[in-house]
Amino acid sequence: MKALENEIAWSWSRDKIYRRCKREYYWAYYGSWGGWEDGATPTQRKARFLKKLSDVNRLVGDAIHTPIAKALHLRSPAERTPPFQQITGEANEAFEHVVRLNGWRIGDVITDPSRGMGQLAERYYQLPDLDERLALARVKLGANLDGLRQSLYATIPFRHDARDLLWVDPVEHPAIMSRNEAMQAKRLTLDDGTLLYGSPDVVVKGTDGLVHIIDWKTGRLSSPDDLQIGAYAFFIQRKLDVPLDTMRGHLVHFLAPSEHQVVPIDGLVEKVALVRSMVGEFLADLRARLTDPQLNRADDIERFPMIEPGPTCMRCSYRELCGRAALGQPPAEDDEERGETA
Ligand code: SF4
Repeated sequence: MKALENEIAWSWSRDKIYRRCKREYYWAYYGSWGGWEDGATPTQRKARFLKKLSDVNRLVGDAIHTPIAKALHLRSPAERTPPFQQITGEANEAFEHVVRLNGWRIGDVITDPSRGMGQLAERYYQLPDLDERLALARVKLGANLDGLRQSLYATIPFRHDARDLLWVDPVEHPAIMSRNEAMQAKRLTLDDGTLLYGSPDVVVKGTDGLVHIIDWKTGRLSSPDDLQIGAYAFFIQRKLDVPLDTMRGHLVHFLAPSEHQVVPIDGLVEKVALVRSMVGEFLADLRARLTDPQLNRADDIERFPMIEPGPTCMRCSYRELCGRAALGQPPAEDDEERGETA
């Protein structure tokens, strides 16, 4: 079997982590690399384990995104409305499954990092108000599912023929694709060798002849992530050969009242130009920190500095490794989305 290779790659989520904290990026892509191997150090194992943790906000997002994508992948040609009951059932089941997961606690020596998969960081860090956080998350999940049912945009991908669905977020599932196929689908190599990862939720060709990128949002309505749509447009342009000036973006916030639910994102030609410069800056800055850019080696952790202690650290899965676990976590009602790790 071909040995796994730690490749330099860009994605919206990698860029977000890199801008947030260089040390967090180090733990996610270097310190945790090889943590699954027999000869891994305790720190590598711990970092790998912490990378696999989820949290209550991410759990709500995953619990909704996956059943929608699965329903779109598996729908029959005659099915023209979203199977809301099935999506609701699967979302609630996925949520409660993770709530029941139990594993290590802070300070434990990790022997099998894969056991971190999906476990809640709040449980690992033994937050005293975990039950309250879970109760709030259940309310949030229910509100998102209500928003989904009322959303015109949720019905749009189902109303179209399968041939108009240019992209649905790849899902690992026995009837859809393997984990490796899902990873390959999200991967794109540019002409200059730059490796990108991306995956919008849905891309559909409309009756207006335009190509619509739809992204489901399950968090609080905040400043629009319009450059995220720019990153998806860049990916879709190169992956599916779609002209940029035919694309439109739509952020669909299930928690917003239906009349404010959709934030249109235009000007994708300019946004993609910005994203391309972000990719170039990211790669240049990252390579300058590596001890061997050719081999993608980061043997000097100090080149990836920590940030000042504060709310970002309080939400960070790696705070144990940075000696900042005692900071605690922001109050449940103040906590915000951190997004996935690509
Ligand atoms: S705990 Fe703070 S300094 Fe350490 S990786 Fe996380 S965000 Fe960075």
